[in-house]
Amino acid sequence: MPYQFDQSSHRYRDAETGRFVKYTQVLETVNSEISRLEVRLKGHARLLTQGKIDIAEFQTRMAQSLKESHLRNAAFGAGGVQQLTSTHYGKVGAQLKKQYKYLHGFGQDLAEGKLTKEQAIKRAGSYAKSARTSFFEAEFTSRGKVGFYAKRLLDAQARHCQSCISYQRLTWTPIQNVTPPGVDCECGGNCRCRLVFRRV
Ligand SMILES: [Zn+2]
Ligand SMILES: [Zn+2]
Repeated sequence: MPYQFDQSSHRYRDAETGRFVKYTQVLETVNSEISRLEVRLKGHARLLTQGKIDIAEFQTRMAQSLKESHLRNAAFGAGGVQQLTSTHYGKVGAQLKKQYKYLHGFGQDLAEGKLTKEQAIKRAGSYAKSARTSFFEAEFTSRGKVGFYAKRLLDAQARHCQSCISYQRLTWTPIQNVTPPGVDCECGGNCRCRLVFRRV
């Protein structure tokens, strides 16, 4: 990674220039991880629709790709793999458990022939955004340990689900009391809710 983590500010520095990396740039990195995951997941579905793997193998590959990506994002949110604690792993585990449950239902629908090839591929890809949640949860866990406050603001340009609106925090709030984007949210954190952090 060309980034170095600065523990006291909970921010990344560019390893070359020493400058702080903008939060929007950090989120870009998360987004590219999500895009790569989406390609991978759709690839698994494509192999399935081509009859090259069976449903069980498809589910195994989906689960494996999701796990790797959630962990990568959690590590990125926490400031590196070595910063991950049991709390972080617990949150990733809970997120994955939810995805595996959906994956079980997905397998059933496939077995019953309820999906066209295109639908199967699209649905496989839709799991990717879940990994964004692991980034935010890890980040919130780490920042919470060192007493950060946060605001969670709605992006004026984006459409919001009902949950996002209720999670808005306009004043500085202890981060433990702020819901990370994508957690218990219909949009999966896709709505670009804006976060600002501060240590009080
Ligand atoms: Zn939402
Ligand atoms: Zn939102």
